[in-house]
Amino acid sequence: MRAGHGLVAVALVTVALVGGCAGGSPTSLPTNTAKYTEPPLPAKVIPVLTDSPTPTAAAPQCGDPTASLRPTGLGSAAGGPTIDAIRARGRLVVGLDAGSNLFSFRDPTSGAIVGFDADIAREIARDLLGSPDLIEYRTLGSADRERALQNRDVDLVAKTMTINCERRQKVTFSTVYYRSNQRVLAMKNSGINGIADLAGKRVCIVRGTTSLDHMRHDQPAATILTVPTWADCLVVLQQRQVDAASTDDSILAGLAAQDPYTAVVGDSISVEPYGIGIPKGDDDLVRFVNGTLERIRHDGTWDRIYRQWLSLLGPSPGPPAPNYAD
Ligand code: GLU
Repeated sequence: MRAGHGLVAVALVTVALVGGCAGGSPTSLPTNTAKYTEPPLPAKVIPVLTDSPTPTAAAPQCGDPTASLRPTGLGSAAGGPTIDAIRARGRLVVGLDAGSNLFSFRDPTSGAIVGFDADIAREIARDLLGSPDLIEYRTLGSADRERALQNRDVDLVAKTMTINCERRQKVTFSTVYYRSNQRVLAMKNSGINGIADLAGKRVCIVRGTTSLDHMRHDQPAATILTVPTWADCLVVLQQRQVDAASTDDSILAGLAAQDPYTAVVGDSISVEPYGIGIPKGDDDLVRFVNGTLERIRHDGTWDRIYRQWLSLLGPSPGPPAPNYAD
């Protein structure tokens, strides 16, 4: 993104110099023949057609979608068909985003995937396999998460995944391990101070997200551009191809940390409880993961990883309390 602007600047200077030489007289002003061309959009950008049906409030009902299964314990005695298969394989296959600052991204020095979600996955691997390093990561876009679980391409998804009734029709979830709020990211001093200011504005959102559903429902007058990843939203915002982006403030804080000219603004649009996504039917794994979450809530690990990755959101709110269905 920055490199792109740099290239444009270099091109303009080159045109200016050539123009100056070609003019004959050293005092004549260069003729600026450079034309502004819109920077290319990231691949797979799709505008949301305004005539496509707006999601209605008639989302499926399932009671409290955050109610999950009670843990049975973590020791080597804990077992079941899914757990046994993962132990036999010797590594946990985790789906996540490899470019989501603060949650799961490559440490530029070590090359390792790090962040809040990566650390949660590492704690699960620690309890299940005896080492936090026994993980094979599969990179997923937001829109790929449910299908990857339904196809059993991954054992679990640790990717800022909101628990809701619609998703629970296809996959299952751990207890809530983080509670976020959807808000808006805009350029500082843009005059955009929240969702009400997005009427008639262009907003970047990743497809396959709750953020898209809420924006279409709560601000139908916004023009939405959908992209594959949240990092793409930062690029199109920096290129001024949109006026704002909107998703969970925890993700937006990671984007704002990469560009000091942006800011997270406005009130909460919706509460987004994150759960570890697990294939439907893998109840032994659900109980096991809930055991790990129970452990890290109590032994200080949750607070430690919050402080390491998310302290720019404020002091630790403490881990969310679990809600068990059984
Ligand atoms: N929490 C939202 C969701 O699950 C957005 C997060 C994301 O795209 O990773 O749809």
